[in-house]
Amino acid sequence: MEQQAVDEMLAWQRAKRLEKVAGRLRARGFEAEVCATRAEARARVLALAEGARSVGFGGSLSVACLNLTRELREAGKEILNHGFPTLSPEEKLEIMRRQQTCDLFLSSANALTADGVIVNVDGNGNRVAATLFGPRRVLFVIGRNKLVDGGVHAALERVRAVAGPVNAHRLGRKTPCAETGLCADCAGACPESICRAAVILRQRPSCTPTTVLLVDEDLGL
Ligand code: SF4
Repeated sequence: MEQQAVDEMLAWQRAKRLEKVAGRLRARGFEAEVCATRAEARARVLALAEGARSVGFGGSLSVACLNLTRELREAGKEILNHGFPTLSPEEKLEIMRRQQTCDLFLSSANALTADGVIVNVDGNGNRVAATLFGPRRVLFVIGRNKLVDGGVHAALERVRAVAGPVNAHRLGRKTPCAETGLCADCAGACPESICRAAVILRQRPSCTPTTVLLVDEDLGL
């Protein structure tokens, strides 16, 4: 059998797995769609953003990978992204506050269980807060690399093993993991810890319409 045929079969199995997770998300009250590629996900985000006047970016690398800002801005949307490097600390804080009441808030997940539970760990809290209540709609873009078997424990382990250390390193934080690449459970003892709050979405929060795009590509950390 040629490698191309093997790849096609593996793609078929991945699609089946993602469809099953999408079904579990729907059973938990989320709207869920599977996108075969990041280009497909990008087109869906732009379509879902059509009626939004303001779009909040929680700081997700997965969302950043979709390169949405210019097109959304050209469509007349207000972009609420505290990650622009020219912003002062006060301006960043103000944008993080305004993200909480934007029309559309874009985030990813640190991990997603095979049973459809979304797990995010945050330092500032703006990202996880906005996924709970406030924005008129929340949209998660979640790459296949975020899927874990083994439930919420495995999801939190993924944060310790991958997302926490690499994000701390990326953000230049003074944490043990940013040096060693390994979590040292610094929360509580470290002023620059990015792991201060964990939000486990077992169901869609009742006042927040929430869409999840599952992407059959690796996205973000
Ligand atoms: S060392 Fe601290 S900041 Fe780094 S992953 Fe562990 S808890 Fe998070």
